Order: sequence, then C-alpha cells, then structure tokens
Amino acid sequence: MKPRLVLAGLGHGQLEILDRIEEIQKEYDVVLIGGKRTMYTGAFPQVIAGLMPSATVQSPLEPVAEHVISVDPQEQSVRTENGSFHYDVLVLSTGAKSRGVGTPLKPMSRELLDQIEGSQRVTIVGGGKAGVELAFVCARTKKVTLYASQMLRDVPVWRQKQMERLLVKSGVTVVKKKKDSSGDAFQLDATGVAPVRWWADSGLAVPDAFIETDESLRHRQYKNIYVTGDMASTLSGGVDAVRSGRYVAKRLLNETKRPFRTREAVNILLTTPGRALLTFGQFTWHGRLPYYVKRWIDSRYVRQYK
Ligand SMILES: Cc1cc2nc3c(=O)[nH]c(=O)nc-3n(C[C@H](O)[C@H](O)[C@H](O)COP(=O)(O)OP(=O)(O)OC[C@H]3O[C@@H](n4cnc5c(N)ncnc54)[C@H](O)[C@@H]3O)c2cc1C
Repeated sequence: MKPRLVLAGLGHGQLEILDRIEEIQKEYDVVLIGGKRTMYTGAFPQVIAGLMPSATVQSPLEPVAEHVISVDPQEQSVRTENGSFHYDVLVLSTGAKSRGVGTPLKPMSRELLDQIEGSQRVTIVGGGKAGVELAFVCARTKKVTLYASQMLRDVPVWRQKQMERLLVKSGVTVVKKKKDSSGDAFQLDATGVAPVRWWADSGLAVPDAFIETDESLRHRQYKNIYVTGDMASTLSGGVDAVRSGRYVAKRLLNETKRPFRTREAVNILLTTPGRALLTFGQFTWHGRLPYYVKRWIDSRYVRQYK
C-alpha cells in the first residue's frame, strides 16, 4: 500500500507540487484539502490595473474538504469541515493571514478583488512592496490614500524618494505615518502577514509565531510534515513560496537530500502605466523592461495553472 500524502492548502508552493502530481501519485496516495481555485498574488495587481482578465489558478485535483481546522501531529490526522483525514506525510501550504489593520489582503479571494474594483476610494496601509504596487494600480481609477511610515525600506533612499514622488504625481495621497485602526470605510491591510491561531493550537508552533522547520523544510519535531511558503519561519515572499514547493516536490520524489537554501529574490512591482520597478537586494531598475518581464512571467504562470 502506498503511503498517504495529504496536501493542505492551495498556496503557491502546493501548486508547484501539484504540477508534478502524476509522478507523485505513483509513490503516494494523494489527498488535497483546500479550495479548488486560488488567487495568484503576483497577478492580482495586474487584474486591478486591467492588464489581465483573471488571477485565478486551479488545482488538477478535486479537494476532499476545503478548510484545515487543525492538525493532530501525534495521531497524524488533519481535521476539516468534512471530518478527519489520516496522513503519513503532510505538506502544509495554507499561507498566513493579514495583520488586521482593515480589510485583510490574505487569504486573497475573488470577492476581495470585486470589492476593490467596485470602490471609488481606497485607503491602503503599509509601504512595503505590496502596498506600494497596490497604490500605483488603484490610483489609475480610484482616489487612493497610502499610509506608509516608511516606503520600500529595502531599496536605496534615492529610489524610495523617487517612488514617493511618482505616487504623488499619480494622485496618491501619501501619509507618512502608521495607521493602527480601521476608521475608513474601505481600508486594505498591506502591513504584512501574521501567524494563524490553529498552528499553535495544533502544537505546530508556539503562540503568535511562524512554524519552525529544519533545513529540509520539515517541521522541527514532526519530520513527516513539510512546511512551505509564508507559514515557515525561514521563508518570506512569494518567490520563496514557489521555490519551497519545488524543493518539497523533489524531496517527496527522493530526488534530493540537499538542504533548502534561501536566496535573495527578484521582485517586480507595477508602477505607472507601462513601467515597473525591479528590485534585487539593493539593485533596482525602473522602466519598461521590468514591466514586460513581469507581464510575461505572470501571464505564463496563470496559463500554466488555468
Ligand atoms: C497584493 C500582493 C501582491 C503580492 N505580490 C507578490 C509578488 O509579486 N511577488 C512575490 O514574491 N510575492 C508577492 N506577494 C506575497 C505573496 O503573496 C506571498 O508571499 C505568497 O502568496 C505566499 O504563498 P503561500 O503559499 O504561503 O500562501 P498563499 O499564497 O497565501 O496561499 C494560501 C492558500 O491556502 C488557503 N487557505 C488558507 N487557510 C486555509 C485553511 N485553513 N485550510 C485550507 N486552505 C487554506 C488560502 O485560501 C490560499 O488559497 C504579494 C502579496 C500581496 C498581498
């Protein structure tokens, strides 16, 4: 009998695993818990900008249930709205949640996209890459206020200032302070992600912490649980989520024994029409080429998982 592999959550990492599902099904009896569809976050701003019709991607497998309620790592089972499912190996890819300063961006949904598209005014909290990109794309059709005590703090100061000037020129009201409460009618929380309670309730993390893994992305204590994407304390951002999924697929197929290596990621964010900002550590490039590269990468990704 094949071991039972439970794939929990349709995060970016899981899609990479599902991409190799035929090979994996030769080795495991595979069960998916999660939505049949999810949003590809990289393309989310492109849909708001009217550059792509959809950012929805889907799984080739039919899920047996939609929500992980908890995990019992001693019993090796996942509790869902449709009962409990035993696993021999578990891959967690349910992502993290928004911090709670307004309408959460995570987990992302089609309903959220509709709400953004239908709004005349949007307040965005957070001056990281997601907040700045959202401010740029929303400003094309809406009145936007961006709260950012600091903007794009990983890039050189001259570039931060240039982006701030461009935002103002695009009609965005930039407020250079923190906003902790949600007073506005529609305020998007782009302040980053936080741990989800069921992780600690299941004994997979200490309260209010991300899940610790070993160098192979296995849970430190429960070695038959892999953790991908935003859930893992060592990973950050969508590029790591994708890379971690590819790596776990290789581990499941016994193709590697090497540790997972985090590395500096290239990020590209849309700015003014026809332009994007590429960042790679302290290196930045603003112009047309990053824009075309981003559009090519994202449309290829969405086509792959359509
Ligand atoms: C607006 C925006 C733009 C971004 N753009 C980029 C970018 O261009 N490049 C980049 O590198 N990063 C980007 N990011 C960051 C990126 O979205 C995350 O780092 C990445 O999505 C993390 O992937 P993940 O696999 O951990 O989980 P997610 O992509 O968050 O997916 C988690 C999935 O699990 C589901 N789920 C949640 N809870 C449960 C549960 N209990 N049971 C079952 N399923 C569940 C969710 O519905 C979702 O489908 C962006 C973020 C935002 C907010």
